[in-house]
Amino acid sequence: MTRIFLSSPDVSELEESYVLSAIRSGWIAPLGPDVDAFEQEVAARTGVGHAVALSSGTAALHLALVSWGVGPGDVVPTSTLTFAATANAIVYTGATPYFVDCDPATGNMSPELLDEVLTQLRADGARVPCIVPVDLLGKCADYTAITGVAESHGTRVLADAAESFGATHAGRPAGAWGDAAVLSFNGNKIMTTSGGGMLLTEDAELASHVRFLATQAREPEIHYEHKEIGYNYRMSNLLAALGRAQVERLDAMIERRRSWRERYASIFSDVAGVTIFGREGDQYDNCWLSAILVEPETAGWTSRELLRHLAALEIEARPLWKPMHLQPVHADKPARLAGAAEGLFDQGLSLPSGSALNDDQFDRVAGAINDFLVRK
Ligand SMILES: *Cc1c(COP(=O)(O)O)cnc(C)c1O
Repeated sequence: MTRIFLSSPDVSELEESYVLSAIRSGWIAPLGPDVDAFEQEVAARTGVGHAVALSSGTAALHLALVSWGVGPGDVVPTSTLTFAATANAIVYTGATPYFVDCDPATGNMSPELLDEVLTQLRADGARVPCIVPVDLLGKCADYTAITGVAESHGTRVLADAAESFGATHAGRPAGAWGDAAVLSFNGNKIMTTSGGGMLLTEDAELASHVRFLATQAREPEIHYEHKEIGYNYRMSNLLAALGRAQVERLDAMIERRRSWRERYASIFSDVAGVTIFGREGDQYDNCWLSAILVEPETAGWTSRELLRHLAALEIEARPLWKPMHLQPVHADKPARLAGAAEGLFDQGLSLPSGSALNDDQFDRVAGAINDFLVRK
């Protein structure tokens, strides 16, 4: 029995032909026409002025923070319900992440709690150079409210849109919100360059500084001259070629994932105690991962029981991100909590959602879930 994964890379002959052309073009270095074109294509797709292709989403987060001068003594509010990379990038700079709880309906940063945190930090005289909200599982954060709150406290927004490329909020694409935003093209994301990321911003100076920092901060001299600490964070031309094919297929891949969301909604439509996570407004999401929430008292079973049932049948399912404030490595960081992220971690289960799944594989998932439900 072949294993069914949550979200595996979806590559076709188009990717093969683009990568082969890039190899044959001789542009193998982390520089070249495919990097430039990929940046332009993603910028056009998101309607953002500047895009910088980097080696990962984590690198993009890190360099935006470095470029803004974030460092020791600074406090950076971010979502507690996120992947570790968001918090880690803040820690790399020496700043302290401040974990903010979420709206239970979306898992995204609560604007009300953010406002409380920023008010408190201001009263304490803390330096808050920016905030980092996250777009969970492909649904944009409530940027209408969040950017308003940030502005009222005089701080910038770095949007972690690693999971939400292709989604929109209030008619504006993911990646186009905030002072800068970050995309990830890791292997499990909505589209992939096998590994990669991008910084998006309207700020030409920020974009060019990040591009400079990402190429070892090499000054434009014939010898190697350095006035700043640089990083080796640029994307390779071969991977950018892969990314260009993926961007072309992005809408089709989103539609495929959306069709799985609809299937799960119908499988669980009359199952008491189970809801599809983030269902409201999900026509604007990219449906990166579909997850259910299970209330054990009503359902009579837990999300973890279903997880174990599927695992025994070689089907991967996973809890939502374990909140950062519960991670041993971040236990000493400040947090403003209301129980929502912990509730979602307990009740949430992400189910196979990849666009590379074929119909037979999805039928196997659906059959395994139905068997479980019948026995309960
Ligand atoms: C995947 C992810 C990242 C990191 O992206 P990489 O490209 O894997 O470095 C950052 N933030 C969130 C929310 C993510 O899901």
